Amino acid sequence: MLNIVIFGPPGAGKGAQSQHIIDKYKLVHLSTGDILRSQIAIGTPLGLQAKKLMDKGELVPDDIVIGMIRYKIENAQNPNGFIFDGYPRTVAQAKALDEVLSENKTAINGVISLEVQYNELVKRILGRGKDSGRSDDQDIKIIENRILVYNDKTAPLIEYYKKQNKYHSINGMGTIDDIFKRISSVMDKF
Ligand code: ADP
Repeated sequence: MLNIVIFGPPGAGKGAQSQHIIDKYKLVHLSTGDILRSQIAIGTPLGLQAKKLMDKGELVPDDIVIGMIRYKIENAQNPNGFIFDGYPRTVAQAKALDEVLSENKTAINGVISLEVQYNELVKRILGRGKDSGRSDDQDIKIIENRILVYNDKTAPLIEYYKKQNKYHSINGMGTIDDIFKRISSVMDKF
């Protein structure tokens, strides 16, 4: 199996690049943000709880997202591998992911980290908010908070994956196609 984490701050382009990666490498796309938004759309209690936090740009509790990811991994039908998008976002989530994968006799092959300047992140998120209607993409205070939460809770994962020799930094500025070529040249060596 080929399992990768697509990593980076909000607005780095993880979702857009995931679409290209799943086409080329035939991986199952697991985006915790998408899963949470589908729970909100169907109005489950979990969705209602998550929405309050997402609307403030805060993280949803670890036990909730860890449970969701575990369920998706264990119920996938003969996958070639997974691309984890927006997960893990804390060290506890990364440890849980390593455990679940190891229980299923597999592991993360590598982490693709998209490097994008702060001003560009904010610009991309506001642009996306106009089309998607996502409320967390339309308010500058919420966007700033998400980037702060990333720096505080998620950036420590860089060290976590560097220690495992799995961390690959990619320049995330430029066109979607150019960035995808950079990603492919790294992933082709996994
Ligand atoms: P972005 O990468 O632009 O922030 P996502 O769809 O990945 O977009 O995440 C949107 C929101 O969903 C986050 O701000 C957070 O509230 C929640 N969320 C998504 N994934 C996780 C996760 N792994 N852990 C905790 N909260 C999450």
